[in-house]
Amino acid sequence: MTLKTALRQGTEILERAGVADARPSAESLLCHALGRERVYLFSHPEHELTTVEWIHYGRYLHERSNGKPAQYITKRQEFWGREFRVTPAVLIPRPETEILIEQALLARPSPRRVLDLCTGSGCIAVTLALELGADVTATDVSAEAVEVARNNARALGARVTILEADLAGGVEGVFDLITANPPYVESGEIARLMREVREYEPRLALDGGPDGLDVWRRIEPEARRLLSPGGLLLGEFGSGQADAMLSLFPAPWQGARIIHDLAGLPRAIAVRYDPGS
Ligand code: GLN
Repeated sequence: MTLKTALRQGTEILERAGVADARPSAESLLCHALGRERVYLFSHPEHELTTVEWIHYGRYLHERSNGKPAQYITKRQEFWGREFRVTPAVLIPRPETEILIEQALLARPSPRRVLDLCTGSGCIAVTLALELGADVTATDVSAEAVEVARNNARALGARVTILEADLAGGVEGVFDLITANPPYVESGEIARLMREVREYEPRLALDGGPDGLDVWRRIEPEARRLLSPGGLLLGEFGSGQADAMLSLFPAPWQGARIIHDLAGLPRAIAVRYDPGS
């Protein structure tokens, strides 16, 4: 069977299984079975699959048909132009989270000491270490996530100190920037998420309690404890939570700004800690 046919048949199988992104999923699973980059599929449409490639591809299609995200099958996801390894112990990095990176790169003066909470795959911490050349510490409450983040930091050549901790528990020091993409989904909403998220992504990384903001309420005093005067907190939240988020940051927090994602939804907050005000 040629790549062209394999791609067509794989797409059909996934469509029949109700997979929304059937074609891109089939492409990424076929690449994974071949151990090749995507461009190969289109430059070699007449490549004949070997038996082994076909068996692997079939298994991946089966897993994807059952709802497993393609990223947990291929074990990778791109974020800010770099490839991160992911396992089901960490949330798959989302494109909207790149907003936090954009905002961090725009911050003046450029942050030198950064703390990333709920780091998961380490995508924010590693990217900031590489893009800002900053001294980055990251934490996650999950030992498995810490291992994934450490492996990503090592593979991408980023110097990040990654600690197993509940938020900033045990972290001392002063930081110019704290970033966080904590669990923020309302507990009651989890059952309504896409099957890929609901059944495969770690609940620990999603469930933010009854109104989604349990973890954010705990981050606020930690950020006050650890930010330098004038330091910046940048974090992600759910699309209906902007007003509730703003109310979590009264004085000595100053100048809270809500940032919208590419879909136009409120998605991130930037707020400065200004104890002198
Ligand atoms: N953006 C994720 C989702 O909507 C949630 C991420 C999180 O809770 N931090 O599925």
